[in-house]
Amino acid sequence: MAIIQQILFVAALAVAAWFVTKRYKFIRDNINLGKPENRKDRPSERLSIMLRVAFGQKKMMTNVTVGLMHFVIYVGFVIINIEIVEIVLDGIFGTHRLFAPYLGAVYPFLINVFEVFALGVWLVCVGFLTRRYVTRVGRLQGSRHEEMSWRWPQLDATLILTFEILLMTAFLTWNAADTVLRAQGVAHYDVPVAGDFLISGLLTPLFEGWNTTALIAYERFAWWFHILGILFFAVYVTYSKHLHIILAFPNTYFSKLEPKGEMKNMPEITKEVQLALGITQPDPNEVPAEIGTFGAKDVFDLSWKNLMDAYTCTECGRCTAACPANITGKKLSPRKIMMDTRDRVEEVGRNRDANGGTFVDDGKTLINDYITVEEINACTTCQACVQECPVNINPLEIILQLRRYKIMDEAQAPASWNAMFSNVENNMAPWKFSPSDRFNWADQVNS
Ligand code: SF4
Ligand code: SF4
Repeated sequence: MAIIQQILFVAALAVAAWFVTKRYKFIRDNINLGKPENRKDRPSERLSIMLRVAFGQKKMMTNVTVGLMHFVIYVGFVIINIEIVEIVLDGIFGTHRLFAPYLGAVYPFLINVFEVFALGVWLVCVGFLTRRYVTRVGRLQGSRHEEMSWRWPQLDATLILTFEILLMTAFLTWNAADTVLRAQGVAHYDVPVAGDFLISGLLTPLFEGWNTTALIAYERFAWWFHILGILFFAVYVTYSKHLHIILAFPNTYFSKLEPKGEMKNMPEITKEVQLALGITQPDPNEVPAEIGTFGAKDVFDLSWKNLMDAYTCTECGRCTAACPANITGKKLSPRKIMMDTRDRVEEVGRNRDANGGTFVDDGKTLINDYITVEEINACTTCQACVQECPVNINPLEIILQLRRYKIMDEAQAPASWNAMFSNVENNMAPWKFSPSDRFNWADQVNS
């Protein structure tokens, strides 16, 4: 029986590893569909941002209660996973609490730390479900202007929270059943443990009075449920918004370091403007460079960091809740911009894989088929979404790239914007007055 369990365990481990590796390769290839962009400069500054924003959850602490809840679930997730090392080794070698005889009093101390966090995660997950379904926090219900199915994001969040509750319940009751078996001196379970388990110890009365067969059956059930659940979670997370658990770290490391309001110039245009203004002189020996697409029409025209942003989005809606365009009833949600970008890049990736590694034109583009012109034109470029995002995602960069494409490649700007553009071109200001008239108002003030 033990050997069968060992074989099943190794098989489960191998299957999970295969799925996770396959999915990570798919996501990596999709992110690499984006254009190159150097985000490796100033490494110490980048490391500091990652430590503060991803590890320290800095932006989550603007709401202390919610920030602490996230902190518990995040630290709990990391710490409890340390315990998996022992579970995996026990599974492979058919041992039971492998580390207990070697760690002495440290062992129950560690298990107690895991149990405290397991209880914390359990309570926080219940709290999060309550916020979603009882108090119904607005941004978690989907925005009025997110014209997409909100069913999957809701289901995804609910599944993960429920799943975490079940996993933590299995962990605590497994420890409780195991404690009773150990106290009864049942062979294989009579491992020396130098101390009591505090939280699961409170649950042992539930199992007292059970016969040994029933106790072993429950202990095995809870052990398998816990470890299979974790393996399933490892695969599931790669299809879910919870991928941010992993991607938040590289995504914050590769944050934009320039000031928020500094927009990326287009070198070709900068050069033309400088020539027109006489700032630079034409080089007679220069071979004119081929002008490609301005801005972004599809995910291929975005940078790899824009695509990593899309995969990192937690769908929390903090950006949309702060977006003045959304608040004032415009059809724009920065959260939807990120989710649409992710959906499109996934579609492109599936197309590429189905066609032997080469994307075959499917007649669709990110702009028009996923994100509409009305959405991108509603953006005020205020940066509120960038400021609010807890994992340093920049929805505005994508909006600006799509806008550049529409305006500069397709010449489709709203009429009022075209008037403003010609004013900038002719008057060096958005207004229709000549630069020489700019100080006329001052004359009137003096008279
Ligand atoms: S930059 Fe645009 S999308 Fe972001 S919050 Fe401001 S208006 Fe909304
Ligand atoms: S872009 Fe950032 S703030 Fe907006 S939903 Fe995604 S994670 Fe949340």
